[in-house]
Amino acid sequence: MLLNGKKGIVFGIANKRSLAWVIARRAVEEGATLALTYQGERIEENVRELAESLNDPLILPCDVTKNDEIETVFAEVKEKMGGLDFAVHAVAFARREELDGEFVNTSREGYLIAQEVSAYSLTAIAKYAAPLMEASGGSILALTYLGGERVIPHYNVMGVAKAALDMSVRYLAADLGPRGIRVNALSAGPIKTLSSAGIKGFSKILEHMRERAPLRRNVDQAEVADAALFLLSNMSRGVTGETLHVDSGYHIMGM
Ligand code: NAP
Repeated sequence: MLLNGKKGIVFGIANKRSLAWVIARRAVEEGATLALTYQGERIEENVRELAESLNDPLILPCDVTKNDEIETVFAEVKEKMGGLDFAVHAVAFARREELDGEFVNTSREGYLIAQEVSAYSLTAIAKYAAPLMEASGGSILALTYLGGERVIPHYNVMGVAKAALDMSVRYLAADLGPRGIRVNALSAGPIKTLSSAGIKGFSKILEHMRERAPLRRNVDQAEVADAALFLLSNMSRGVTGETLHVDSGYHIMGM
């Protein structure tokens, strides 16, 4: 088992389609003990119901825009779990209206919200996760998307936030590497979830990928979870600051 005896925390479960949920389930199958967070009461019941199929994870509220909630989460993890081996950041948000028209019309507030929730939160989480990992090193993983490297129609402000997230992964990898902590990103191809459904023309993006990607198909949650296991486990012990694309090879295409 790839994560036998390992302790992890997963941010970003909304429902059973969430990439975070599928990663959490696979991590438990591979022997991990988990803490799961949910954003608000609206989601709590969902997360608790899903978690019934896992081995009694610690379940905690955390809106990543709130420092006090992040601090409380890691204090609880320290007290109840004694330390951490990995952390998964699968959190993103942009206002629906920013994912509709043109990027040039992005509002100041919409820009800041997307950056705060989708990019800065990784640094906030890493700051508190790192001290809990120092005994034997650790792995921090962020979920990203090609829209942070190239222009994808309607991804707009979220693309700019993903670019910041991708670069944060590299700066964090450089800072935390000397402490034995690795930080990587997994760039997933488009997959229908609660968040992606908010992107205008999302089914067209799926169709385009099926037609153009080297593997001529979309990817699914299970493929993302398997690659995530690699990055979270000792199998990737020599890898940090990397972005692994799980996208049927779509990102290599020029034309
Ligand atoms: P999802 O199920 O909707 O997950 C996004 C999560 O972010 C939700 O649990 C959401 O909670 C949470 N979130 C939003 N604002 C938050 C806040 N302030 N504090 C804490 N949590 C907050 O969608 P997903 O597709 O699995 O997304 C997971 C990650 O994968 C994201 O980073 C996304 O950009 C990335 N990704 C997705 C795709 C794709 O095509 N699906 C492709 C590449 C990368 P609420 O529901 O309560 O708001």
